[in-house]
Amino acid sequence: MKYSIGIDLGGTFIKFGAVGEDGSILRKAKIPTPQGCGYEETVDAIAGRIGALAAEMGAPCAVGVGCPGVIDGARGFVVTGGNLLWENKPFAGDLSRTAGVPVCVCNDANAAAYGEYACGAGKRFSSMVLLTLGTGVGSGIVFGGKLFTGECGAGAEIGHTVLHGGGELCSCGRRGCFEAYASASALIRRTREAMICHPESRMWELCRGSADLADGRTAFDGMRLGDGAAIAVVEAYLDDLAEGIANVVNAFRPAAVILGGGISAEGEALTLPLQKRVDAIILGHGAYAPAAILPARLGNDAGLVGAALLAKEGS
Ligand SMILES: [Zn+2]
Repeated sequence: MKYSIGIDLGGTFIKFGAVGEDGSILRKAKIPTPQGCGYEETVDAIAGRIGALAAEMGAPCAVGVGCPGVIDGARGFVVTGGNLLWENKPFAGDLSRTAGVPVCVCNDANAAAYGEYACGAGKRFSSMVLLTLGTGVGSGIVFGGKLFTGECGAGAEIGHTVLHGGGELCSCGRRGCFEAYASASALIRRTREAMICHPESRMWELCRGSADLADGRTAFDGMRLGDGAAIAVVEAYLDDLAEGIANVVNAFRPAAVILGGGISAEGEALTLPLQKRVDAIILGHGAYAPAAILPARLGNDAGLVGAALLAKEGS
């Protein structure tokens, strides 16, 4: 059977998928990311799992790995590995030698974008941008079937474009980045701040009296109960998200902007008001070359599928 292996290398788990040529997932597995271990141990652990899948299903055509951080896919290097704390590692070459199969490596958000483009919400569009609203804002840009990653794979970092100069401190060290306002973490921060300012808010009952239990759903659930403080949180969040999306649309004019991450489960409660706001502020007001705003479809599997398909194309 012809298949490729897609790997999503995260700080907590390493997820593996045997992916068919049409993007369907044939098998899935997950191991905890080795903690406190060096680079070589992690390469060995991944190679071991690839070997187990190959023993079960036959040799894969290729292996693709989506990694956090700055990835130079052309050279197969992890330049900076985000929370993996790797620096300048020839990861694709090392894993390929250890596992005995061709390996390609790319940024995890780019892999997810390619997955959504090939098999998910972006399938019917010739161009799209994926924004993943999670701990940060991950982004991937696909035009004409190709990922745009910038020189040496260091670009397409939309989360680190500034929305409010001098604003909230971002993980990158700059102030006011899009991700400091539009990530799930930012929404949760804004929800907690609103709860503390509004002891009467019904968000307190949704969180059983503890602001620590607020999550990315709390403000949306409060809004559905008609709670004023929750409505204000959601409106302010949507305003910031819309400004950031409008920047993306003005810069790239993709046919679709796909939203991933847990918040995308809000579906049209998120995308319809965003579409209205974005259409009102983009150049030309969305009448010419409209950009559809849609929730992602592949959920946590987007990275696996995208990494496997990118590897298959590169092999
Ligand atoms: Zn930043």
